Amino acid sequence: MKKLMAANWKMYKTADEARETARALVDKVGSLPQDREVLIFPPFTALHGTVEAVKGAAGFNVGGQDVYPADEGAFTGEISPAMLAACGCNWVLTGHSERRHVLGESNTFVGQKTAYSLAKGLKVCLCIGEKLEEREAGKLTAIIHTQLETGLKDVPADISPEVIAIAYEPVWAIGTGKVAGPKEILEAHAIVREKLVAMFPATGAQMPILYGGSVKPDNASEIVSLDNVNGVLVGGASLQADSFSRIVLA
Ligand code: PGA
Repeated sequence: MKKLMAANWKMYKTADEARETARALVDKVGSLPQDREVLIFPPFTALHGTVEAVKGAAGFNVGGQDVYPADEGAFTGEISPAMLAACGCNWVLTGHSERRHVLGESNTFVGQKTAYSLAKGLKVCLCIGEKLEEREAGKLTAIIHTQLETGLKDVPADISPEVIAIAYEPVWAIGTGKVAGPKEILEAHAIVREKLVAMFPATGAQMPILYGGSVKPDNASEIVSLDNVNGVLVGGASLQADSFSRIVLA
């Protein structure tokens, strides 16, 4: 299975800054190993420039950080799957913990975005993960199960594993410098894998599971070598071409 090395630029970078970083990244990475793909999620205003910057670079993809589950309409501030595709995106993130916990998105809404985007031909990286108090209350498995069940609720049972990825990101490890240890990552990814196989018997074993939360150049290679870890979703350390290129090649 290919490793997906994903950069989530959150609300950082103007269009010019994104274009420059993406260009520098393509230069630093050089020719991407066959078993890797790069996914870049810039802010909406920087999508076009980022797409231009990676044009022709094999294995580089661009996606939206969020999406609204409709074709068009009176949804001020929102962006449709077709608009993302027309910008040159082939991926979208759904359910990022900041959308869930800062912007208040429900599991149900995340599920609608996921199914709708897939139906419209985008690949989806569904983000899941527990908060510290949930982990401490022994709810890790329950939270993962609920977020997968609701997040993938209307996804066809025979969906191709090529068009979906799950990013497991413990909320307590995002932007905090507290990376989950190998034991915690292995445990959570095994729970995700088992649930995916139960929900998608034909393809669940091939769906990529990414780890996210304080991934850095010096811990990336250990993380991507763990069982059931098929890539990483990186925030802070993806903002500079130098550090993210080292993660991509880790
Ligand atoms: P981080 O963010 O790498 O800065 O912890 C990860 C994410 O939010 O996807």
